Amino acid sequence: MGSVVPSPCNACGACCSYSADWPRFTLEDDADIARLPPEFVSDTMSGMRCDGERCCALLGKVGVATSCSVYAQRPDVCRACQPGDEACTMARHRFGLTPLAP
Ligand code: SF4
Ligand code: SF4
Repeated sequence: MGSVVPSPCNACGACCSYSADWPRFTLEDDADIARLPPEFVSDTMSGMRCDGERCCALLGKVGVATSCSVYAQRPDVCRACQPGDEACTMARHRFGLTPLAP
């Protein structure tokens, strides 16, 4: 009846904190990258800036409440990761979070 199912990602953020190599640019062109706040882009312009393994655009506490501060402009790899897929399961495992059904 039109209710919105909350995304499990809003209480996770594990894939955004898994590896500094993960939120890299792939299909993005210069215009896409220019739409991101420059403070969130790595010095090499190859992906998102990270603090350790965690993407700097991630807000909140992993496994509790998280959100992406550049959601509308997030890289393609971030759009490709789906709750319950292999990468999701691996990232959640790192943080002691149970796997999700695909
Ligand atoms: S690890 Fe899975 S559930 Fe967690 S934020 Fe990423 S896609 Fe969403
Ligand atoms: S850009 Fe957003 S979705 Fe992608 S890794 Fe960073 S916080 Fe996560």
